[in-house]
Amino acid sequence: MDASTRYSFVNRPRIYLDYAATTPIDPEVWQSMSEHALHLSGNPSSIHAEGRAARTAIEEARKSVAKMLHASLNEVFFTSCGTESNNTILLGAVRDLQVTRIISSPIEHHCILHALEYLKTQYPVEIVYLPVTTTGQPDLERLEMLLADRPGPGTLVSLMQVNNEIGSMIDLNVVGNLVHQYGALFHSDTVQAIGFVDHDLTQLPVDFLSGSAHKFYGPKGVGFMYIRNDYTIRPLLYGGSQERNMRSGTENILGILGMARAMELAMANLDERQNHMQQMKSRLASGLLEHVPGLTINGHPSATSPKILSVNIPAGPRTDLLLMNLDIAGISASGGSACSSGVESASHVLAHLPITSTDKTVRFSFSHLTTGAEIDQVIEKVTRLTQKNQPEPAPDGNQ
Ligand code: PLP
Repeated sequence: MDASTRYSFVNRPRIYLDYAATTPIDPEVWQSMSEHALHLSGNPSSIHAEGRAARTAIEEARKSVAKMLHASLNEVFFTSCGTESNNTILLGAVRDLQVTRIISSPIEHHCILHALEYLKTQYPVEIVYLPVTTTGQPDLERLEMLLADRPGPGTLVSLMQVNNEIGSMIDLNVVGNLVHQYGALFHSDTVQAIGFVDHDLTQLPVDFLSGSAHKFYGPKGVGFMYIRNDYTIRPLLYGGSQERNMRSGTENILGILGMARAMELAMANLDERQNHMQQMKSRLASGLLEHVPGLTINGHPSATSPKILSVNIPAGPRTDLLLMNLDIAGISASGGSACSSGVESASHVLAHLPITSTDKTVRFSFSHLTTGAEIDQVIEKVTRLTQKNQPEPAPDGNQ
């Protein structure tokens, strides 16, 4: 892609490789949002013309999202983020669907893990965490044993489709069919997958899933949840009964429209974007493997998202501050995942992988906007920063 047509997200020439944390808003999405901002000023709950125009716009967005997911209109609910969607689903399953056991994994996002720990203190629900394989996937043999031991709809299985730290993926068909074979319910946190993978919910054996616009070049602060028609749960928020009583609060109209537009663009360019990210990921992986002795890659070699590359770099004199040094060098990456406090802390995901404790783990995550030249610069910089005895060049470029 020509540089002039690329988004200005950070002040280039910085190199942003943290697209799993968040993505820049697509200019086309922003343009459509800003056009609507000037015209759609009614409250969608009002019955007058301004209100009806806002309501129509939201329902058009819902139609579009539902169509892309091959879901019914009444199965899609707009929320404020992926966290809210996942929390609503987990709470609803326990409180309203008589779920007394949730089987999940210890490498889920904190919005799952912390919600599960909370539910355990408030409801009579057993939480079971599956062991994780060395390639960062939940142990499906153990899952089957647990399901066979106590089949039926009293169990919800909650497993993420793409792990946000290491990129490993589960096959929703395989897991969902297994879960349904034993009559249990299946929720997948698909926040890192929506907009990057096709989801045909007429075929996929999934009962609940979640999406978040800021992961696929939409605005921040808006998401959605899919709840299969067979299930009725109560909301997290009570009030004006918006979203068919599933999510009270005046709708984030512009956010919803922006999310639908971003998802349309993502789905229209799915293959092209996936192929490009895969090329970027392979280029970085092979470059780093060639130049950084002892470097290893986390996650599954093939069941992995083209968006994420997580690498372990053996300890050296300058690896402790590697992320900071990369930042100073104009490269944004992350250690494991973005952490809400902005502080690098030990990763609960990496703790379950066979990584030498002194290794430095770095997560690079890619976009269709990433260029080969950027990847080459990152390879060069990481190589330089991890070479044991070589001094760092002065910031002005003098060696
Ligand atoms: N689930 C996964 C896998 C994520 O990566 C994230 C965000 O990093 C979330 C859920 C939370 O999404 P949001 O930021 O929209 O609350």
